[in-house]
Amino acid sequence: MLEYVIIGAAQSGLSMAYHLNRSKKDFLIVDGSDRIGASWLNRWDSLKLFTPTEYNHLPGLEFDAPTGYYPNKKDVAHYFESYVAHYTIPIQFNTLIKSVTRNSNGCFSLKHKNGQIETKNVIIATGPFHIPYTPAFHTKITEDTLQVHSNYYKSLSQLNDGDTLVVGAGDSGYQILDEVSKDDSRVVYFSGKTNVKSLPQSFMGKSLWWWFTKIGFLKFNKFSRIGKLLKSIPQPVIGTDVDEILGRENVIPVGRTKDALGKDLFFDKAIVSSIKNIIWATGYKPNFKWIEGLEFDKDGYPKNYKGVSNVEGVYFIGLPWMFTRGSATLGGVSEDAEYLAGVLFAKESA
Ligand SMILES: Cc1cc2nc3c(=O)[nH]c(=O)nc-3n(C[C@H](O)[C@H](O)[C@H](O)COP(=O)(O)OP(=O)(O)OC[C@H]3O[C@@H](n4cnc5c(N)ncnc54)[C@H](O)[C@@H]3O)c2cc1C
Repeated sequence: MLEYVIIGAAQSGLSMAYHLNRSKKDFLIVDGSDRIGASWLNRWDSLKLFTPTEYNHLPGLEFDAPTGYYPNKKDVAHYFESYVAHYTIPIQFNTLIKSVTRNSNGCFSLKHKNGQIETKNVIIATGPFHIPYTPAFHTKITEDTLQVHSNYYKSLSQLNDGDTLVVGAGDSGYQILDEVSKDDSRVVYFSGKTNVKSLPQSFMGKSLWWWFTKIGFLKFNKFSRIGKLLKSIPQPVIGTDVDEILGRENVIPVGRTKDALGKDLFFDKAIVSSIKNIIWATGYKPNFKWIEGLEFDKDGYPKNYKGVSNVEGVYFIGLPWMFTRGSATLGGVSEDAEYLAGVLFAKESA
């Protein structure tokens, strides 16, 4: 019987482990993947962070790279590896937890394919992104067209030759559109908003994150007036020159994707039958249904206050806007972790 189990061995789980370790608590991290940094390594190959080194530190140990450098996904995985080694954090990999239920003795059973783990408290650090979302009509598209969600997109080498469609106007959509349309032998249709706000990675010699920190943008909490406003508006695309990309000769914006049948894709502004590849950068749905007793908000995230859920003994870390815009970022999770550790330890000594 453990005191604490953290589910998820990426930035959020490691930030909580830091506090449990420092206070010499009896804990274990479990993770469904087979290595540290998997959630980052699984993302596309050319991914660069939009946060420079100095905004990527987890508690205690700094991200080892020059100030102003924008790390790639391998740098992040390497940082996590060093972090785990530095603090000797106990992690059990290949342990995908399928259910969390409360036992008659008041403790929790965490079931996985090879058995179960018992713990008094469970901290869910499974990230914000669970089920890749693709519109239902994707099943009506001919099998000759290659379809891949951004979650599984790695590089151009995956794609068929020929016309390509990128769907989705977030950071992922625009970054992938940028990469795919650099291959100017390819016509690339873009489906999604073209009037999105985009912010450069630096401004007047300072990084965007420097400005965000300066004006307190990352600290407004979701209960404040400004926090509520920021949470409700679409996030700007960061570090990608949207206008330059949309202005490329081989990029054709087509508006919203409305439906599909066979080879035909129906958009707001066109019907196109020549598409050989579709990359759906259409986001994710959360999945926390495997945890017994939770209440959910309208978006499917567990109701909580700064990580404390409605189920006593079940805690969260790393949810988007758990408290501030920074909650689900490398540099921002520390503050939430420190708060939550304080709550856990206060409860123990009560
Ligand atoms: C494309 C992209 C770019 C981003 N760029 C930046 C950036 O530049 N800067 C920044 O600060 N943030 C960035 N983010 C946001 C954020 O830092 C990441 O989403 C981050 O990965 C979230 O960390 P996490 O630890 O909460 O969860 P994750 O990284 O999602 O890790 C969750 C872990 O939990 C494990 N897991 C999940 N379910 C289970 C289960 N049932 N049982 C056991 N294990 C489980 C997974 O295997 C995984 O290891 C980016 C996000 C994306 C998608």
